[in-house]
Amino acid sequence: MNKIDELIKLDNKKYQTKYRKVLKMINQFDKICVFRHIRPDFDAIGSQLGLATFIKDNFPNKDVKVVGENHITLTPNCFPYMDEVDDSWFDNDFLAIVVDTSEKKRISDDRYKKAKYLIKVDHHPNVKPYGNIKIVDEYSPAAGEMVAKMCLSFKNCVLTKEAARWMYIALAGDSNRFKFSTTTPTTFAVAKQLLETGFDIGEVHRKMYNKKMDSLEVTRYVLNNFKVSEHGVAYYILNDEQLKKFNLRPEQGKDNINLFDGLEGIKIWVSITEDKDENVYRVSIRSAITPIDKIATKYRGGGHECASGAKLKKYSEIDKLIKDLDNLLI
Ligand code: AMP
Repeated sequence: MNKIDELIKLDNKKYQTKYRKVLKMINQFDKICVFRHIRPDFDAIGSQLGLATFIKDNFPNKDVKVVGENHITLTPNCFPYMDEVDDSWFDNDFLAIVVDTSEKKRISDDRYKKAKYLIKVDHHPNVKPYGNIKIVDEYSPAAGEMVAKMCLSFKNCVLTKEAARWMYIALAGDSNRFKFSTTTPTTFAVAKQLLETGFDIGEVHRKMYNKKMDSLEVTRYVLNNFKVSEHGVAYYILNDEQLKKFNLRPEQGKDNINLFDGLEGIKIWVSITEDKDENVYRVSIRSAITPIDKIATKYRGGGHECASGAKLKKYSEIDKLIKDLDNLLI
């Protein structure tokens, strides 16, 4: 492994005891499954694949799996399909490592419940702690950064180009390409260390942000139909009819949310998408500065101060949500 940057070493000091325990557990178990949250994003799958690849590279005799639903567009454009694992695999002792997932009910794949030992590595507020070892830093920009720092701390291990590439995707994704205020000098130190393994950053970004021509039709619809509240909440609604018209899945409803990022006068921006299967409206909320996570929690969600998700049970809740967000800006 290359020399570890001093900033990373300094940051890692407070986790040394936990890291040692994680390494002990990885050594102890022959079977390891890496989990992450439902409705995954770059950070969820990137940190999951990064950690799984790192373990496989350094402990070739371990049986390592990655599970959870595939992403509607990122798989297979950017990520490989998850492992299809028979239930019987989970009947023998295995170690579960869950990345990027704040609470148990958001873990994609319930079979984590059968794990003999559970490790959580996450960067959401630790509201509902779980796991035998909890490595949580809510100020970290991405679970991918935490996974990378932990792996870099393991002596006598290698960080391959492939493992580093997944971790980089996680880090670039959740820091919004290093734009969020959670990005620190250590973040750049981690990115530098990952990049030094030799992957092509241009190729990575092309795969991450590649768009289909059809998606412009949805963007056109959003630009023609968004609304703005009195104090600067921009929001758009995609109902089932529009999803069908544009041939979209509900999880793609938020794809246009960042159109409003950086727009003068817009301080909070929101996408609201009907999900007929679950009989809810899925909400994604982003904010420039004002913390919005408490409002997300009020509407059955949660997340980070400036990027959260929520669910509405009926259409009439939309006005209430927007009013609550607007009130934050008075
Ligand atoms: P999204 O708008 O779905 O991209 O989610 C933004 C952030 O909020 C991500 O970090 C999610 O993991 C988190 N998040 C979304 N929904 C929830 C929820 N119901 N509970 C906790 N965190 C959530």
